[in-house]
Amino acid sequence: MRVIPGAWRRTAEGAGLLAADGSSRPTIFAEMSALAARTGAINLGQGFPDEDGPQEVLDAARAAIANGVNQYPPGRGIPDLRLAIAEHQLRFYGLRLDPERDVLVTTGATEAIAAALLALVDGPDDEVVVFEPYYDEYAACVALTGARLVTVPLAWPHFQPDLDALRAAVTDRTRVILVNDPHNPTGAVFSAEVRAEIVRLAEEADAVIVTDEVYEHLIFDEPHVPLATLDGAWERTLTISSGGKTFATTGWKIGWISGPADLVDAVLAVKQYLTYVSGAPFQPAIATGLRLPDTYFTDAAAALRSKRDILGAGLTAAGFAVSRPRGSYFTVADAADLGATDADAFCRALAESAGVVAIPLTAFVTAERRDRYRTLIRFAACKRVEVLEEAAARLSRLR
Ligand SMILES: *Cc1c(COP(=O)(O)O)cnc(C)c1O
Repeated sequence: MRVIPGAWRRTAEGAGLLAADGSSRPTIFAEMSALAARTGAINLGQGFPDEDGPQEVLDAARAAIANGVNQYPPGRGIPDLRLAIAEHQLRFYGLRLDPERDVLVTTGATEAIAAALLALVDGPDDEVVVFEPYYDEYAACVALTGARLVTVPLAWPHFQPDLDALRAAVTDRTRVILVNDPHNPTGAVFSAEVRAEIVRLAEEADAVIVTDEVYEHLIFDEPHVPLATLDGAWERTLTISSGGKTFATTGWKIGWISGPADLVDAVLAVKQYLTYVSGAPFQPAIATGLRLPDTYFTDAAAALRSKRDILGAGLTAAGFAVSRPRGSYFTVADAADLGATDADAFCRALAESAGVVAIPLTAFVTAERRDRYRTLIRFAACKRVEVLEEAAARLSRLR
């Protein structure tokens, strides 16, 4: 039997991370991927691309391995990747970072999120505000810190937070406001008004903003606005991104976190005991990616936008109500008009009835709020066009 420290165990149980017998549960993503494999269904569940990213980036990783870049790199990340990250923030957003002090390379955005929360939050008197539905790691990591998770709901179909609900959630106990923009699982991009209010509230509560912007380049209607660029935001904001989504290299796990040196140092203090360092040969490859011409980034967004449109049209034709995403890999659809009352059961049946696998939105919410999202489903659009077209054809038979 595994021994789990009591405090974490209680919080984890409260957050629904453990099964009733105290064992850890397979995530819904693993479960649904297994269902897809078993039934031969098209897997629009887990968000990973089924095509390789840019050749230059893949070649750079191969060259690094061939050239002996295979031992522990520096804990903060290789200098050239930190420089490339700083260049990228300046080129796209006008943000000026000191690559020596303001940037830390992590093992994916996943580690950056975990290390930031563990560095900034401590115990049950601290609160972390997150927008719900949320990337499932957020609740798990808040549970690991023992802090209280405070959620602000995002409502169908636009998934913008209500400003009064946001104001009510942020108090003097708030240590971190954890933002994800563009948003997984909903595809929402926060409005300028919401962004400004997040910064204002963080200042008022003296909280740190941790912002997960892994979909910064996968945005369809407007240029991405990092929260760190807003007036007054920089000194209290840690910005997280990753090469995984931007360069279709989700298996490489090269992420980064940037912000004021004192906050980055606090994250490094934790990171060094989580993973010590991150994948050496992938770091120069991601540096190569970050220096690709603008057309790479705009083409990647345009390609995903047209995939979103194919998926959206297929879902609409099948009888779903569809929320039009403004960024990210994902589209949320409402299955209520197809008779669904419970998206979890509907998704399990969909694998058999339509041969398509997707994820119920209830996988991204706390237990008390399941009802609000009970007929909503997340579909991933980051698949080859012919796969999406086949999925659309299969779904159309639902009618
Ligand atoms: C995929 C994803 C991550 C994880 O990124 P990695 O670099 O693979 O660790 C973090 N946040 C969100 C919102 C994601 O969708």
